[in-house]
Amino acid sequence: MENEYRVVYGDSGLYVLDTASWRTFRPVIDETKCVNCGTCLLYCPVCAVKKVDGRIQIDLSYCKGCGICRTECPKQAIMWVKEEE
Ligand code: SF4
Ligand code: SF4
Repeated sequence: MENEYRVVYGDSGLYVLDTASWRTFRPVIDETKCVNCGTCLLYCPVCAVKKVDGRIQIDLSYCKGCGICRTECPKQAIMWVKEEE
């Protein structure tokens, strides 16, 4: 199945959460400001931020649009874009 995020929750087995469906705004990295520090990767609660080929990327299949990465980015390199209806 696509667009799902699996977490182990207690001893009840796996809960399947489509975290991307919660999003009303999405983070977009401004490559001209990003210094690739990895702070956003450390703070993302659903591990949607990854380093691919040495560069930080956000996986929108999992991103739930909480904005924590944007708040914590020391370079204000994450733009906040409204999702299309
Ligand atoms: S926290 Fe900001 S500057 Fe650091 S890697 Fe993420 S987007 Fe880039
Ligand atoms: S908005 Fe939230 S869920 Fe999405 S990448 Fe940033 S910290 Fe992770």
